[in-house]
Amino acid sequence: MSIELKLEEQVKACIHCGMCLPACPTYNVSFNEANSPRGRIYLINDIIKEETKLDKEKTIEYLDNCLSCFACETVCPSNVDYGDILHYARQDLKYTKYNKGFFAFLRKLFFKFIINNRSLLRLLRLNLKFSSFLIRPLMKAFGLTAQAKLMPKLDKPYKTIHEEEIFYSDVELNLPTEKRIINFSLGCVMDTIYNDVHWDTIHVLNAFGFHVHISSSKCCGSLAEHSGEFKIAAKLKNDFCQTVQSEELALVTNSAGCGAFLKEVSGGMGVYDLIEILKKAPYNPLKEKTFNGEILYHPACHLNHRQGVSGDYEELLASVQGLQVYTLDQKDTCCGSAGFYNLIKSDMAQKVGALKADEITKSNIKTLVTANPGCMSQIKAHLADDYVVLHPVTLLRRVLEANSSLM
Ligand code: SF4
Ligand code: SF4
Repeated sequence: MSIELKLEEQVKACIHCGMCLPACPTYNVSFNEANSPRGRIYLINDIIKEETKLDKEKTIEYLDNCLSCFACETVCPSNVDYGDILHYARQDLKYTKYNKGFFAFLRKLFFKFIINNRSLLRLLRLNLKFSSFLIRPLMKAFGLTAQAKLMPKLDKPYKTIHEEEIFYSDVELNLPTEKRIINFSLGCVMDTIYNDVHWDTIHVLNAFGFHVHISSSKCCGSLAEHSGEFKIAAKLKNDFCQTVQSEELALVTNSAGCGAFLKEVSGGMGVYDLIEILKKAPYNPLKEKTFNGEILYHPACHLNHRQGVSGDYEELLASVQGLQVYTLDQKDTCCGSAGFYNLIKSDMAQKVGALKADEITKSNIKTLVTANPGCMSQIKAHLADDYVVLHPVTLLRRVLEANSSLM
């Protein structure tokens, strides 16, 4: 079936019931139908039929306002593949502004020359760390206050993890090595900003009985795709998949965004989110562990809505004696991170982030746990300094090490 026909069917599948509207963060902060899934489907349908009532710039703005969080797909009774429809409008019909302008030029350079080069990424990290005292005020002076808040503090030491290294588990299990070894993807931004979370991941996987091989793959292309750089994303994705296929091991990622993208493009390569691997573990070291504290868990959209992996981290964390795990009433709503969305569409991202922060603040719980680097940065930027934002694997490591501090 041609893409046009498939798309026409998808558009027709929308019965205009509006059940997706309350799930949509951009509708919730604007109350504008054109900023809702149903409204965007109407707009795309008009483009396909060449009957657009709005001018092209306005249509592009409404489409670019979409966070690609896919909360609308989860609640849709008609199973409309909104992601496919939006992707077609952005990629094939070129209804996106994401890759135009000076900022987009810088972004293109970043995706083309830096994101796939681990040495340059480490250099960038070093620069960011030592120049942030200068960059932050400069950004604020140029009116980029929201973006300045998103700049990571990078206060944890960076410890290089070498590609192709294997970290062996010392848990004694009656299983051959080849059944226990898994391939861990370092990714790009995750290793640059949250290298400490990678070390926590290796530690926790080892504690659960897995040997961890570090994949030689670099960036998977998910961020580039999310930012409308489709050609660069395709190249990154191909390089990534070739490397991983040659390694012939099941791949695990601790970043929900990368996992969602890779599951879609890898053609059954065997990609797992960390929690899916931990759930399969032949051994559970959390039994008998006690850890007193309370946390709020925020499900990352790309784990929850895109990968359909829901409730598992909460269940595993809640199995720890003494640990109280809570979720927000609006737990299925995006925090406004969405790749580089919060840098490009900072007005909308600010409003969505503020809604999430409001809810968190009302709960009176000071530790927020979420499994995606983008969500971690976005949520932290919208909370007061006394809030702690952690990846669940960091919390798991603290439980395993009987470190009773959540801070
Ligand atoms: S929930 Fe699904 S069918 Fe209903 S309006 Fe939204 S996209 Fe259309
Ligand atoms: S993907 Fe998210 S922001 Fe976009 S229309 Fe669906 S719910 Fe709204």
